[in-house]
Amino acid sequence: MNLLKIITCTGLGFCLLATINSCKSPISDNKTSDSTKLAIAKPVPGSAIKLDSSKRYIYLTWDDSPQPPGTVNCKLVFREAGIKATFFGVGFNKVGPWKKRIIDSIRNDYPQFLLANHSFSHGFNDKYSKFYSPSMTDSAFNDFMRNEKELNIPVKIIRLPGNNTWASNGVITGQKAENPLIVKLDKMGYKIVGWDIEWGQLGKQKAPKESANEMVKKLNQKFEEGSTNQPNAIVILSHDRLFEKKQFADSLAKFISLLKQDKRNVFETIDHYPTIQNK
Ligand SMILES: [Zn+2]
Repeated sequence: MNLLKIITCTGLGFCLLATINSCKSPISDNKTSDSTKLAIAKPVPGSAIKLDSSKRYIYLTWDDSPQPPGTVNCKLVFREAGIKATFFGVGFNKVGPWKKRIIDSIRNDYPQFLLANHSFSHGFNDKYSKFYSPSMTDSAFNDFMRNEKELNIPVKIIRLPGNNTWASNGVITGQKAENPLIVKLDKMGYKIVGWDIEWGQLGKQKAPKESANEMVKKLNQKFEEGSTNQPNAIVILSHDRLFEKKQFADSLAKFISLLKQDKRNVFETIDHYPTIQNK
């Protein structure tokens, strides 16, 4: 028996994997032979969803993946809570088979997790003044393209290393709105995501600065004062590595469980951010 697997995209944001039985089975009659069965219906990253204006959308965006064991812990916490999140990958960090598998697993776990682009070299190894210098625009642009290719990133969504700027369809706001690299990325159809609040790092330690309760307070305050970049949506920046120790992974779990108590809160991947998703 020959089984042919065919993937068809419907244009409705779903790809269908159909298994076709191409010859007659000895036990089946004519009615069931040559049957086509739908085996998988998988959403495509970047396809639009309908946003509900009575909800508060929370976009957890974690940078610099893969950084195990932090990345692995965060994935476990998110999975256990049944919530969505976005990981901004750095190709330079993807050394060795374990880290490669982590990146593959994030990419394959869509729609729960989304893999997006944070540059290959993390801004020429944190040399931001060089990375954003107008004379380096092409090199920096190519650094994002290299990352997209090497990590096989499924969406044109970027978080700039060390920089809180937003860009979408010619509208650029934030720290480096005039920068030629950002203008070029925007012109090439890339969406750049900044952040509304950060779960920061405690000095140089791999530890989160704020407690879970403090972060919930920060988030609620931002929504209440209406100062998020887009209404009813908040982008939270943090880093996988801060949740390496069990006590901090527990703190992340607590943060999520506190947020889940408020029924207005919905966790989404960043491809469903109001100014990013294609309508
Ligand atoms: Zn970073």
